[in-house]
Amino acid sequence: MTISNHTFEADTGKILDIVINSLYSQKEIFLRELISNASDALNKRRVEGSVDGALLAETVGEIVLEAHEKKKILKISDNGIGLDEADMVEALGTIARSGTKAFLDNLQSNDDKDAGEANLIGQFGVGFYSAFMVADKVEVVSKKAGTDSAFKWESDGATGYSIEPAERDAAGTTITLHLKKADKEYASDVRLRHLVKKYSDHVAHPIKLVDDNGEMTTLNTVEALWTKAPKDISPEDYKSFYNSVGATYDDPFLTIHNKAEGAIEFTNLLFAPSTPPFDLFDPERNSKINLYINRVFITDDCNDLVPKWLRFLRGVVDTPSLDLNVSREMLQQSVSMGKIRKAIVKKVMSEIKKKIKKNSEAYDVFWGNFGKVIKEGLYEDNENREKIVEICRFQSSQKSALISLEAYIEAMPDGQSDIYYLTSDDMAKAVVSPHLEGFAAKNIDVLLLTDPIDEFWIGMMPEYKDKKFISISRGEIDIDSIKSDDAPKEDSADADDYVELIAMIKADLAELISDARISKTLTSSPSRLVAVENGMDIQMERMMKAQNPNFEGAPKILEINGGHDLIKAMQSAKPQEQTEILKDLSLLLFEQAQILDGKIPHDTQGFARRLTKVMHLSL
Ligand code: ADP
Repeated sequence: MTISNHTFEADTGKILDIVINSLYSQKEIFLRELISNASDALNKRRVEGSVDGALLAETVGEIVLEAHEKKKILKISDNGIGLDEADMVEALGTIARSGTKAFLDNLQSNDDKDAGEANLIGQFGVGFYSAFMVADKVEVVSKKAGTDSAFKWESDGATGYSIEPAERDAAGTTITLHLKKADKEYASDVRLRHLVKKYSDHVAHPIKLVDDNGEMTTLNTVEALWTKAPKDISPEDYKSFYNSVGATYDDPFLTIHNKAEGAIEFTNLLFAPSTPPFDLFDPERNSKINLYINRVFITDDCNDLVPKWLRFLRGVVDTPSLDLNVSREMLQQSVSMGKIRKAIVKKVMSEIKKKIKKNSEAYDVFWGNFGKVIKEGLYEDNENREKIVEICRFQSSQKSALISLEAYIEAMPDGQSDIYYLTSDDMAKAVVSPHLEGFAAKNIDVLLLTDPIDEFWIGMMPEYKDKKFISISRGEIDIDSIKSDDAPKEDSADADDYVELIAMIKADLAELISDARISKTLTSSPSRLVAVENGMDIQMERMMKAQNPNFEGAPKILEINGGHDLIKAMQSAKPQEQTEILKDLSLLLFEQAQILDGKIPHDTQGFARRLTKVMHLSL
């Protein structure tokens, strides 16, 4: 008999130590994680068996718990797909799996462990390794469906693991936990019954407990909850179903349960989470809704049930309108699938709107977590863009709470016909931007867009309700004609007074700017940089920058504030005698404006030199 010994991949031991010791208060969730793996294995076997009948189990899929409290042993068996030797190395020998890894990275960087812990578990789940929270030795005996040999994987969760040939009749997996002394409660029938009810009641396969006489009792409800009438389902049932089907720990923000009849028939029981899942921004942007056909699980990997901007939805869609035997590719192209998706989007939108009416503060919190994802729809979902924008919320320069576009438009003063916005990569920078000054002086509100996706969707959506989106950091915006009751009218500087200064700045900064002029909007800052009206679009500039970090972008226009004492002093200085310091000041005006836009000055050394010189002169 050959035993192969393996050490865990680099750092795995250390990482395991964190899982085992940091999750102390939530130890009991190990059972849910193992049951959920068993349930996945049963689903996988059913699905693969529908392609290759030889893989199907002879008996109904089930999960069996067997406990010996005195011996401190708990066994969890399933007749699912099983693992062969290579699978064991791959699936149980590494901790590279994105969820566990992300979870641990987060845990390590999270100083406030106690407060963050439950929340983190909610986001990530911890998977197979959670077994080591309660066991000091774990054995996995498994036979993969369609193969003849079984293997045993064994580990103490500290240094490594071994794999050796083993005996097992039917395909499937048995996980044996040798419980730590302090954790022998997990081999008590009472405790197991309670935990299965609490965490795994809605697992779609029977979870059975074997007693000393070999009698089996089913512990979970094993019903398709979505087939019941909503009035017969309690909020607790919904939550526990959501937690089990979505592998989540939070409360659902939305529960959407309804049945569509007519041309296309389906039932959906969908949930919007309240806590963002860890993989929300994975590049794949996969959705995880479970697709059933007549109560038979088909896949949790069907990306066409909902658009990507709704990928955070969890739950079940069950339909008799799709053909069980069609391949995944066919499924995706099927007309029925398109219809289901359309209906789901409509339903989700209407539920979100209801929620906004009922509790808009709660929606604002939800928006804070999921808004970035929903806004992807503004960019890529032509069909739904107009609808999506209605549920979008924005920060703005004049309001402390989030606002809708509708509310923005309603509050526009007489004479304002466009929607003003400012993009920035950072909210803290945006709120103090000199671009806002003229608008602030007249109490004109400006949307502050700081998510990367904002640059993209705004390019796709030139207007909303006949109001154009206008960037205030671009071109010249005439806000003189906009009425404002509260703000005193500022005397705007006369550009004619600054002809020489402007000419000098243009000459000094010839390589750096496309033009210089007196600003119509600055009130307190001496300068700002604006994009040329018809120059390269900001989105384009951003994409160019992503490809070439040295890309500077199109030269901007330097606007100076004629009402500012510095600018006045520069104008009255004697150009012939003070050439050098005036050039330094022009450059500093430019560099300062760059900094306020979140950029690093083009020539950092020169900038520091100039600044030092001016500091020195000021004494
Ligand atoms: P996850 O389930 O999120 O992938 P886990 O750490 O829980 O991560 O499990 C790792 C992998 O081990 C699973 O993806 C699966 O391939 C395999 N596995 C775990 N338990 C079983 C089981 N009972 N039957 C078959 N494979 C399993």
